[in-house]
Amino acid sequence: MRWSRYFLPTLKEDPAEAETASHRLMLRAGLIRKLSSGIYNLLPLGLRASRKVENIVREEMNRIGGIEILMPVLSPAELWMESGRWHVYGKELMRVRDRHDRFFALGPTHEEVVTDIVRKEVRSYRQLPLILYQIQTKFRDELRPRFGVVRAREFIMKDAYSFHRDEKSLAETYDKMYEAYTRIFTRCGLKFGPVEADSGAIGGDVTHEFMVFAETGESQVLACECGYAATSDTAEGKVPQYRPDEKQKPLEKVATPGMKTVEEVTSYLGKQPWQLLKTIIYNADGQFIGVLIRGDRQINEIKLKRVLNAVELRMADAAEIEKITGGPLGFSGPVGLEGLRLLADRSLEGMVNMVTGANEVDAHYVNVNLGRDFTVKEFYDLSIASEGDLCTRCGRPLRVWRGIEVGQIFKLGTKYSQAMKATFLDEDGKENPFVMGCYGIGITRTVAAAIEQNNDTDGISWPIGIAPFEVLILPTNVTNPELSQTAENIYSELHARGLEVLLDDRDERPGNKFKDADLIGIPFRVTVGEKGAREGIVELRRRKTGEIQRIPKQEAVETVTAVVNKEKSEATVS
Ligand code: ATP
Ligand code: MG
Repeated sequence: MRWSRYFLPTLKEDPAEAETASHRLMLRAGLIRKLSSGIYNLLPLGLRASRKVENIVREEMNRIGGIEILMPVLSPAELWMESGRWHVYGKELMRVRDRHDRFFALGPTHEEVVTDIVRKEVRSYRQLPLILYQIQTKFRDELRPRFGVVRAREFIMKDAYSFHRDEKSLAETYDKMYEAYTRIFTRCGLKFGPVEADSGAIGGDVTHEFMVFAETGESQVLACECGYAATSDTAEGKVPQYRPDEKQKPLEKVATPGMKTVEEVTSYLGKQPWQLLKTIIYNADGQFIGVLIRGDRQINEIKLKRVLNAVELRMADAAEIEKITGGPLGFSGPVGLEGLRLLADRSLEGMVNMVTGANEVDAHYVNVNLGRDFTVKEFYDLSIASEGDLCTRCGRPLRVWRGIEVGQIFKLGTKYSQAMKATFLDEDGKENPFVMGCYGIGITRTVAAAIEQNNDTDGISWPIGIAPFEVLILPTNVTNPELSQTAENIYSELHARGLEVLLDDRDERPGNKFKDADLIGIPFRVTVGEKGAREGIVELRRRKTGEIQRIPKQEAVETVTAVVNKEKSEATVS
């Protein structure tokens, strides 16, 4: 490709709206352009990189027996009603209406559609297991689209679905997928870790997310030296306990004028945040409940939803709190709340003489004791695990890191096949629901994650496996026929050897060309300069390290081919 004839609009300045390196660099290096909130055009370089990711994904899916199909973006509402997700999915599901007033979903994921295909076409256990996948545009009306294509409303995803006669067969495919994902992200040049996760709206119980390590990642992972790693949505840790060796003291009501927050109340009373018992009133699917947790811990609403088996969960508003507790927001407590279902986090076990709200304005109780002043029957792990909690497997302290989720794999079981009556006949001629798995990878998000991990102050530094081009040829002065000719020759010969080459044939100042070269980050650059031409050499520069190799002109093609191929073979997984 010749730069002068290509479409590669780079930006000199950092775009103001970009908060992360990948977002900034994808705009500056001309990979993407925003059309609307969370909706992006993929320009040629961005498209080439995402096609590279797609091809790696395709090869690895095919390798484990996946079969590629393409399902429609539009799927009829009736299918989503069958599974129940028309209502459950909420506002993230984009819905459209046709001229006959029929509703459709713009597919955010395709469990319903693929289950419909399979229930109509697959009858016998002999046809199982079956793995179908597609690479396609997905739509999700995200609450907060951000970071460019990392959290977009329209994006490219690979989604695979597997169908099995039993759990054992599903487990085998799940393990194969886990390995395939490991190969895919390794080939994309990423540093990542698989972690245990929550299954969210998709359903099922066993699930792993593949997380690319990144400070700017939206996901938090808690990990232990023993190998345990889980997202903060689901991570379990043993909360360090404070077991004050105190006798129960008499309950006392104290004035706390205007003191609402944990910090305000505890510092006013000369106590520590962990000595306070927080009471939060929620509405779960229309029912009010109270959740009790130690003052220094936060409620994990995902765990809470799971415990309650709730679809909608929201905090009660001030008026509702007043009605239920008799006191204003900020002064709730469990004493006297007999009518309300109370759930307590395990952090409260063993606590004595706690501070709680008194359910009236400007008042708290001190020396509140469980069993004496109030009762709770339901104790669960309801808190967000945090740095320093102890690993439930080995007892060592958990550490926190941040990451970008690039893929997730799920064991779905029979959730969809049962709801949608998708069955096959076993050896005995008996009908059974398919046992299913599903497996996603964000293609465009993976490109962004790779940039997030591979960049420096000058720009992108592509891993070879997904680089839009492998080699950039840069003649410093195209008005010099000798330089121009040398560059042209190297370009066409490398091209003939199957390398992906971009020739910067623009009549621009060398300084600008070098800046752009660093910005777009092609892994290898061959500089054809005037000084070198006099000595009969060209320079091969590695973007990642800045390392330069001077090569005699006649050997340039051989050497560059060998170096690039070596780098590529090191990036493939055997
Ligand atoms: P997240 O928690 O980040 O919203 P998710 O759990 O909803 O992701 P899945 O339903 O598992 O995502 O989708 C599979 C993959 O699709 C994700 O691992 C991610 O790489 C990608 N993906 C999901 N949502 C988006 C989005 N809004 N923009 C870009 N890629 C996305
Ligand atoms: Mg999501």
